[in-house]
Amino acid sequence: MPDKLRVQDLSAHYLTGQGPVKAVDGVNFALSESESMGIVGESACGKSTLGSALMRSMQAPGRITGGAIILSGEDIARLPDNDFDNNVRWKKVAMVFQGAMNALDPVYTIGSQLREILDEHGFRGDFDAKVAESLKQVGLDPAVASRYPHELSGGMKQRVVIAMALLLEPDLLIADEPTTALDVLVQSQIIALLKKLHREKGVTVLLISHDLALVSQIADKIGIMYAGQLVEVGSTADIYRNPKHPYTQALIAAVPRLHSSDKKIHFIPGSPPSLLDPPGGCRFYPRCPHAMDACKSDPPEFPTESGYVRCWLYDPTLKSSAR
Ligand code: SF4
Repeated sequence: MPDKLRVQDLSAHYLTGQGPVKAVDGVNFALSESESMGIVGESACGKSTLGSALMRSMQAPGRITGGAIILSGEDIARLPDNDFDNNVRWKKVAMVFQGAMNALDPVYTIGSQLREILDEHGFRGDFDAKVAESLKQVGLDPAVASRYPHELSGGMKQRVVIAMALLLEPDLLIADEPTTALDVLVQSQIIALLKKLHREKGVTVLLISHDLALVSQIADKIGIMYAGQLVEVGSTADIYRNPKHPYTQALIAAVPRLHSSDKKIHFIPGSPPSLLDPPGGCRFYPRCPHAMDACKSDPPEFPTESGYVRCWLYDPTLKSSAR
């Protein structure tokens, strides 16, 4: 199946007075139409910046500094701003931003906020019918259109912002931490909704989260992000059953298991590096239990069964016993 989305060597930096903060630095992945993907990593690893870069919604001083974002065969990173605003943002790529449900305007009804989006994007048709359809699509009663944000629960508000993102029927939906601040039951409902939209409506979903277990419920493939780079990409089954990168292995080991006899709490010593001045070579080097001399230079992407891993342990020319 051809790629729906291909991200090639994408970099997005924040240009500060002290130098560029390399929040996204040479990221590569591809997604076919039938796939959904999760991007997982610790806080401040660059995953939200990656989502904003794909939407071209980075706030100054952030900007895309290199690479390509090929959506349905077209490099949308290079489109003129007007072209992107009129023809791509929300129409082809939409995003549920982190905390978006708290940004609903308290003085307007849900229906008027949805109608405003349709109006701004030149929708021609029956506004009320479209609003009702989009609310139904996310499992809400169309009567919610006449209610104000404060009358809705957290889960209902999150469904509303997903409905907003889907209003113009985009091909790709990016959801950044869509279940943060929701209770566990509502989290499951939102994940089930995203899964349903992917399976039944054919929406390609890119889910950004710090929660590997949550992402694995919906994603066909997972990208593990560390210090601005994707260090491992693979099918969800491969990432779980046979994690290769030492960071992925440590992330999985850090998840407490209720029924395991191992009651020890595993954590990753040290902290992620500053993205203003990341270490040369492998960025995980200062925290990695397998670090070796070769790791002082930047590892390339070594192919795996279902993706790649950026780690010198998988260099077929390097005979290492550390793996
Ligand atoms: Fe560890 Fe080296 Fe692999 Fe980096 S390249 S993760 S330091 S073994």
